[in-house]
Amino acid sequence: MTRKQKRWLVRIVVALVLFAAVFAITEILPLDSWFGSRTAAIWFEFALFLVPYLIAGYDVLLKAARNIGNGQVFDENFLMSVATIGAFAMVAFPDADPHMAEGAAVMLFYQVGELFQSYAVGKSRKSISELMDIAPEYANVEIDGAIEEVDPDEVETGSVLVVKPGERIPIDGTIIEGSSQLDTAALTGESMPRLVEKGDDVISGCVNLNGVIRIITTKPYGDSTVARILELVENAAEKKARTENFITRFAHFYTPIVTAAALLIAIIPPLLGMGAWSDWVMRGLTFLVVSCPCALVISVPLSFFGGIGGASKLGILVKGSNYLETLSKVDTVVFDKTGTLTSGSFKVIAIHPEADIDADYLLSYAAHAEAYSNHPIAVSLREAYAGEIEEKQIAEAKEESGHGVRALVNEKVVLVGNDKLMALHNASYHDCDLTGTILHVCIDGAYAGHIVIADVVKDDAEQTIRDLHLAGVARCVMLTGDRQDVAEAVAEKLGIDEVHAQLLPEGKVRAVETLLSSETTDGKLAFVGDGINDAPVLTRADVGIAMGAMGSDAAIEAADVVLMDDKPSNISKAIRLARTTMRIVWQNIVFALAVKIIILLLAAVGIANMWLAVFGDVGVAVLAILNAMRAMSVRKYRK
Ligand code: ADP
Ligand code: MG
Repeated sequence: MTRKQKRWLVRIVVALVLFAAVFAITEILPLDSWFGSRTAAIWFEFALFLVPYLIAGYDVLLKAARNIGNGQVFDENFLMSVATIGAFAMVAFPDADPHMAEGAAVMLFYQVGELFQSYAVGKSRKSISELMDIAPEYANVEIDGAIEEVDPDEVETGSVLVVKPGERIPIDGTIIEGSSQLDTAALTGESMPRLVEKGDDVISGCVNLNGVIRIITTKPYGDSTVARILELVENAAEKKARTENFITRFAHFYTPIVTAAALLIAIIPPLLGMGAWSDWVMRGLTFLVVSCPCALVISVPLSFFGGIGGASKLGILVKGSNYLETLSKVDTVVFDKTGTLTSGSFKVIAIHPEADIDADYLLSYAAHAEAYSNHPIAVSLREAYAGEIEEKQIAEAKEESGHGVRALVNEKVVLVGNDKLMALHNASYHDCDLTGTILHVCIDGAYAGHIVIADVVKDDAEQTIRDLHLAGVARCVMLTGDRQDVAEAVAEKLGIDEVHAQLLPEGKVRAVETLLSSETTDGKLAFVGDGINDAPVLTRADVGIAMGAMGSDAAIEAADVVLMDDKPSNISKAIRLARTTMRIVWQNIVFALAVKIIILLLAAVGIANMWLAVFGDVGVAVLAILNAMRAMSVRKYRK
């Protein structure tokens, strides 16, 4: 609880105690006979009830007055003020029962509800700010052998930082000395520490667990993982779901309508001679109390907020509640193959050089040509090559997305890629009968042979497809630029429903568009990729999910949902979590509206009084908020 909330609580408790005392006095003591007349006694009671009323509600009254001055009349402060002042004003009807107790009680319980709301909002904000805790406060920069604490924002790229055990890595960089275990839990939800050593890239936001490491920064703070994640989470609240906007609009209409209805109820029937003024005015006031839309207005955004916060605890960053809503309606999941369903770390399974060419020579040229590519194939080739890559031999290197690379190595034009690349450059090549991804290599116009590489599917890929089908996702589709036989082998192993192979990046967009047009109106399509040459598809899908985003800027930029980890199982978790959140949102909407409508009807016919109205209102708000907070709990997804 904050200090402000504590003071608020004290004020409510004091008002509550005074209220109980006043209530007891008016019920037990023979005030009528003491004062000699009923009227005098009632005015005395009026003065007594005014004390707890004002202690509990003076701020509400002030806010209502200020809002009227600003032209924003219909808010809940207004409703509560009018209803309670009205209840007190009933004292002016000499023949009616007094209603001061109700007036004071409504204000009191309204405040109890408000305090609870503020506490709940604070708590869910805290769960997100726990994520905010990843923000580093300082960086230890090494300057001329001495260490200085510097604001991360001011650290230049290429500075050397020292990160001690227990400290957070402030800026993305590469280790130049030392090794350690890193705790990435705050970013990925993964509890296993990761071992890093000299030469490894490290990501800001991870906690250094044991060794001292020195890193050289590769980015400014503003472009580091931490800063980007924080920005993303902070902006998430702005992208509102349709349901959320609907509720806000609804509250705008609903409140004036109910206020008007209350006015009509208070005036028309007594004018028509259908009963005493005091009766109907009280019914109208009761209407006002029920009309407060707090339960809806607070619990719906709170549920979304909880869902987004919960997801981020699992390392799933959702860029807005609109994406959470879309995610819950997904019935088609389209996967990119390489790096998404398969690990993307290829093993060389065969090198087939042409007759007069040496295998090492072939591999060396291929690895050099791939020197600057960050495609998983390139990374794997460089790893498979035993020798050093001499950058000065490479004059020019160009990635041809979906095809391969073209580079000038030792002043020779080298092409490394698939048959499409060969065809594009009119190079001759011949096929291979092994199943695998074939990298043809052409050096200075002459075919030099090919390297056959193979990828392995990720551990949890098969389970993920099964989980998605169980969760009611009708179609799991795989798109790939790889060969048909490789694609089919993977698809069959994983239980994928539909495969499209040999696609260029544009082909993937077209395939997704075809799938989109075959969607039913309500079903949505999610595309999952690793962000390497699939950004156009990520933006085209109803919801684009990028995985393995730790450190990949392109993916964080293009996607709507970002999975820090590269585990496919997070996709089914994200969809399940989105559905739970939407279920909670709708439970709250239906429950709150149903209770309100029932009490409104009862109030109109005179069965519900103000007591029931205020308990109905505060009770519903509290229950809806408690329900909303369930969206934040993610224990069931962690196994
Ligand atoms: P996927 O759809 O499986 O993710 P990509 O669209 O990234 O694959 O690439 C499709 C195909 O293009 C690869 O299977 C490979 O044959 C070729 N390719 C792409 N990039 C490279 C590269 N850097 N080096 C060699 N071949 C490449
Ligand atoms: Mg890919």
